[in-house]
Amino acid sequence: MLTESGKALPVPFTLGLIAGIVDTLGASGGTPSLLDWMIKEIFRGLDVLHGIQAGSGIARRIGHHWWLGEPPIHQYRPLTDTLQYLLTPTILDNIHDARIAYISRIRPLEPGKPTIRLPSEEPFMLTAACQAFAEVFTKQSTIECQVESIEDTICILFPSCPFCNNQLATCSVLGGVVEEMIVWLYRKDTLDSVNKVLRDYSLNITPRNNDSHHVLITLTRKAGKHRN
Ligand SMILES: [Zn+2]
Repeated sequence: MLTESGKALPVPFTLGLIAGIVDTLGASGGTPSLLDWMIKEIFRGLDVLHGIQAGSGIARRIGHHWWLGEPPIHQYRPLTDTLQYLLTPTILDNIHDARIAYISRIRPLEPGKPTIRLPSEEPFMLTAACQAFAEVFTKQSTIECQVESIEDTICILFPSCPFCNNQLATCSVLGGVVEEMIVWLYRKDTLDSVNKVLRDYSLNITPRNNDSHHVLITLTRKAGKHRN
């Protein structure tokens, strides 16, 4: 599949994306060039056909499916085309390295020496996981992805969206991928259930400045929970 920027997405990435489109819109297959055309037109046409909010929801669902694939009971194609399958082995290695780096900062107290304050673990590890995702996703999918973080706020950016060149408000397919990736990080099914396991924080995912190519992830410390 040739993207808006003229680059080709690797085959398994295209297959997984098409599966997401088929699952979400019920569109049937066709020749590769027809699918090429269809993918671009679908993303261009979502807001025209469905309105901005519904169109954005559909694109997001395509992104969720791209990451996750079908649930086992509905599965009609191998999971090997999902982003989860393609990316997570390397992401997990990077997360492991980050955890070791975090733990290695913990030092026993020494008399007369000032203690070095550790960064809070939750935002540190979530930032590390987002950086791992951005690095592995960029490398394997060829779609550029970056991370900016300030304390408890992380932004995952897609500066050159292959589907719309960052022109469309409704193009939240990559935002959908990020949402599903975060839910996967906590081994949960929904963002709500992620929030139930986070003890000291509540987690929010929103587009920054209404641009779905800038996914803002905020960890808000719950009242009464102080930094250690
Ligand atoms: Zn886009």
